[in-house]
Amino acid sequence: MPPDSSPPGSAPPPDPAPPPEPAPAGGLAIAAAQAAIVSYGQRMAADRLVVGAAGNLSIRVGDIIVMSPSGMNYDQVTMDSVNVLDASGAILSGTGRRSSEWPMHRRLYDLTPARAVVHTHSPFSVAIGTVADEIPAVHYSILQLGGATVRVAPYTTFGSDGLAGHAAAALDGRFAALLQNHGMIAYGSSIGQAYDRALLVEWLAEVYWRARLAGTPRILDAAELEAVTQAARQHRYRGAGEDAQGPADAGRPGGPET
Ligand SMILES: [Zn+2]
Repeated sequence: MPPDSSPPGSAPPPDPAPPPEPAPAGGLAIAAAQAAIVSYGQRMAADRLVVGAAGNLSIRVGDIIVMSPSGMNYDQVTMDSVNVLDASGAILSGTGRRSSEWPMHRRLYDLTPARAVVHTHSPFSVAIGTVADEIPAVHYSILQLGGATVRVAPYTTFGSDGLAGHAAAALDGRFAALLQNHGMIAYGSSIGQAYDRALLVEWLAEVYWRARLAGTPRILDAAELEAVTQAARQHRYRGAGEDAQGPADAGRPGGPET
């Protein structure tokens, strides 16, 4: 209420002003998610995880999915064009066309604690997916993705329920997976975390690629990986986190981050 709404000298109103009207359900959160989709889409292109309009990313806000639109280069995507979808995939707002990969994102939100999903066509991830069934533990930071490997989901046509099913199976117990002859997918409790995991997958794929070209990579065994987990736990107790590539925040899908 503006300060001059009462005549001078009049008694103050008997009750304090009512609290402001609540925003429409998730309104502010949805607007923030739309803004994040725009900025992370631009990062995805700048980091060369996609070219053109390839790939897509989404954020879940309650039952709503906020998702990048289909067929638009990321430098053309605006907040107005970002789609706001209900649980059945109907467009509530957003001028863009709905992404063909909406079913895969929906499936992950149904099956995992994901709050955000990033799907890219990053080149080393695509390349490794054509010649291997998994990225093995060439580096201990793979534990940040939930386990000792990043699996490759078998090829299926984009946008199909089959692809959604294969992706979900490859993500069992993992935060990321490769999609054969297609790309990769990662999820997290925030768009920032999902994006960082997508970057880590691409880095691991590149390391594995280079190591295989140079010779036969040495792969960390289960005992070595367990020791990494223990060391990360001890560092956390001491309040001294590992470096940014370390497994200090390694969680497990459905684990502490939920
Ligand atoms: Zn794709």
